Amino acid sequence: MSEEIVEYRCNICGSILKISPENIISICEYCGGLNLVSEVINIEDIYIAPSVTVEKILGEFWSRVKRDIDLRKLADKVRIDSIHGWYIPFWISKMIIDGEVVYTKKQYRDKKVEVVRRREKFSEEVNMDVIGRRQVKSIALRELIKAYFKQNIALVEIEKLDEAWWRSNKLSILNIEFDKKESELALREEAIDYVRRRWENIADEIEFFKAEVKKMEKPKLVLLPLWEIVYEYSGSLYTVYHEGWAGRPLIFFEPVTMGRRILYVAGMFTSIILGVFIGSTLSSILLNSSDNVSLIILFLLFIVTFLGYRSAKGFISDVRVEKSWR
Ligand SMILES: [Zn+2]
Repeated sequence: MSEEIVEYRCNICGSILKISPENIISICEYCGGLNLVSEVINIEDIYIAPSVTVEKILGEFWSRVKRDIDLRKLADKVRIDSIHGWYIPFWISKMIIDGEVVYTKKQYRDKKVEVVRRREKFSEEVNMDVIGRRQVKSIALRELIKAYFKQNIALVEIEKLDEAWWRSNKLSILNIEFDKKESELALREEAIDYVRRRWENIADEIEFFKAEVKKMEKPKLVLLPLWEIVYEYSGSLYTVYHEGWAGRPLIFFEPVTMGRRILYVAGMFTSIILGVFIGSTLSSILLNSSDNVSLIILFLLFIVTFLGYRSAKGFISDVRVEKSWR
């Protein structure tokens, strides 16, 4: 495949930038500076949540390890394998969605089921985001943007960052594949889908739904820092993701420890014993009891089997996932 190279110069140090046609931004190989090479996006639309240092990320990692009931026992044998940081581009916008919905819902009144039909007008404010790339790398990105909205992170206009800042920046910036126009369309669609899904959760059946974007803030491109740490424990590798603005963990994959294995095994045995007990009682009761009793017993049997299955799964799996973004 041939790649067309257009000559652009870095607006910070003047070096020649290598750019392929699909690039929207380019990071200078010499000074690390960010250059806009596309006319479809304005520099005023780009914001960044500057990352803390790699030392701060590692500090947060170790304090997470030492706080964790399971991990702290293994802390001596945990070794960092690699650490890497990126700025992930998200298009975000705040919107007001107006609309109307007609739906039905079952209601229980005096032991009777009643189907109620409602018509409601609504006006909702929503924060929406789309990742500025077509190929999404990992579930960590979802957690990253959720944490961003939840914590109301302060942003810096990218124009305000100077050459010294770019030189000291250790993170790579993922290239942006969606321009502002595409992102605006995607954000509108996402917002309407999101509001519809909310009504689907409230209603039993939706008979009519109409919604439109009443107001839309100009979409902003925000670059959010994400760090990935790979650590080793007794020959296996585990991955951890941290947000970069404060350095806190987002997703923590951790080994299943001996203590947990014992808990899982105990769970397995308990359910097997209970299962046998219920099974034998079942056969003696089933013959001379009402349908209700046997249904309850079957239900219990199902629950016990399910719990046993969950324990067995935990026992087999070597990795446990914990989420936190407080
Ligand atoms: Zn440069």
